[in-house]
Amino acid sequence: MDLNLVRAPQLVDVVPDGWYNILPDLPEPLPPMVKPSGEPVKPEELEVLFPKALIKQEFAEERFIPIPEELRQLYIEMGRPTPLLRAYRLEKHLNTPARIYFKYEGVLPTGSHKVNTALAQAYFNMLEGVKRLTTETGAGQWGSALSLAGSLFRLSVRVYMVRASYEQKPYRRVLMQLYGAEVVPSPSTLTKSGRAVLDREPNHPGSLGIAISEAIEDAVTTPGTRYSLGSVLNHVLLHQTIIGLEALKQLELVGEELPDYVIGCVGGGSNFAGISYPFYHHSIVRGGKRDAKFIAVEPRAVPSMTRGEYTYDYGDTAGLTPLIKMYTVGHRYTPPPIHAGGLRYHGVAPTLALLVRNGAVKPVAYHQTEVFEAARMFAQIEGIVPAPETAHAVKAVIDLALEAKKSGERIVVLFNMSGHGLLDLAGYREYLEGKLMDYEPAEIDLSYIRK
Ligand SMILES: *Cc1c(COP(=O)(O)O)cnc(C)c1O
Repeated sequence: MDLNLVRAPQLVDVVPDGWYNILPDLPEPLPPMVKPSGEPVKPEELEVLFPKALIKQEFAEERFIPIPEELRQLYIEMGRPTPLLRAYRLEKHLNTPARIYFKYEGVLPTGSHKVNTALAQAYFNMLEGVKRLTTETGAGQWGSALSLAGSLFRLSVRVYMVRASYEQKPYRRVLMQLYGAEVVPSPSTLTKSGRAVLDREPNHPGSLGIAISEAIEDAVTTPGTRYSLGSVLNHVLLHQTIIGLEALKQLELVGEELPDYVIGCVGGGSNFAGISYPFYHHSIVRGGKRDAKFIAVEPRAVPSMTRGEYTYDYGDTAGLTPLIKMYTVGHRYTPPPIHAGGLRYHGVAPTLALLVRNGAVKPVAYHQTEVFEAARMFAQIEGIVPAPETAHAVKAVIDLALEAKKSGERIVVLFNMSGHGLLDLAGYREYLEGKLMDYEPAEIDLSYIRK
């Protein structure tokens, strides 16, 4: 066996000097963000939330956006390029003719891909003189990535953390505090939106939507402060394309074909976009494998792409964000307490929604028990414990590999290992003890949105 194929070369020139912007390559123009009046949001109206450089990226029309050299160097210092690994042992175990590759983002300091956009966002905020960032976090993966970035660029960071996670998952809270961030359980009494929720329900466990409302309110009412989001927005997905751009070069370095399938899990869509959009560019624009398939995996407990509606909805619970056209289960949907905290978001990124709408991306959904089962197999055979979010992608890969075994097709599969699960062992414990529950909404009521 050629070991170079197991571990593709970790050459730093694999790290790209530009991000890929999918906006000019979409099958139709992206519906604009709008205000409740229906008027499109103007870029300058976002300046209370984000620095100008990030707003420019949000609306950019160029295919490639340069990565400043200082930032590119920091990416390398923080562990990029991440390894492209081949899951030989899993292939053998499944006895499949499929060749399975994965990009391992879990080697980054906080254990997930979120570092890629956290560093970029903190960098551009720092350049424009911002002193403080606010954000929200569910399980804590995004909050810890931004806390690290804040520490590197000397920005203070306040993280509104969903109260249920704050209490039940103390380790990522400790990680954020270790990096110097202030962590506030949400809903909190520090904001109007938080107080409004607590007045109605003093023991509210919190949700990502509420925490977003609090972080935005804090940013727009505090001087020198901007808001930072870990997924959904165009500029966030843009930063993540570094994953797929590296993977393209790494596959080429080992002499492998372009993949037939590119797979990722979807919360807001950033890691899926990161791995898949550069390959979409190849297949659609550059005449690569035209029949390449892109599979987006979500939980059946929060089935925005598979059961939601493609419509304008708010990004947060209080309705402070602009309206975004996306697949949504509704901004008032309370996600069931599944362990994949990063997948408990009611909507998805607008570019991903458009690609699903056009049939370019195929969504699938799984229950958490079958997902943890797949993760256990992967851990026992490949060694890496996937994050519960990532495990959704692993499940889809295993299903596909088993289909290839039946059909005998020698497909090439690439998936994104968005993070490791070593801080998610409480979820694995529940799984091993047979206590995991599967959830699925009986019906999804979106009538309040249509009004
Ligand atoms: C946050 C997170 C996700 C989901 O967010 P996306 O924006 O959809 O990528 C998936 N995997 C891991 C490890 C995460 O931390």
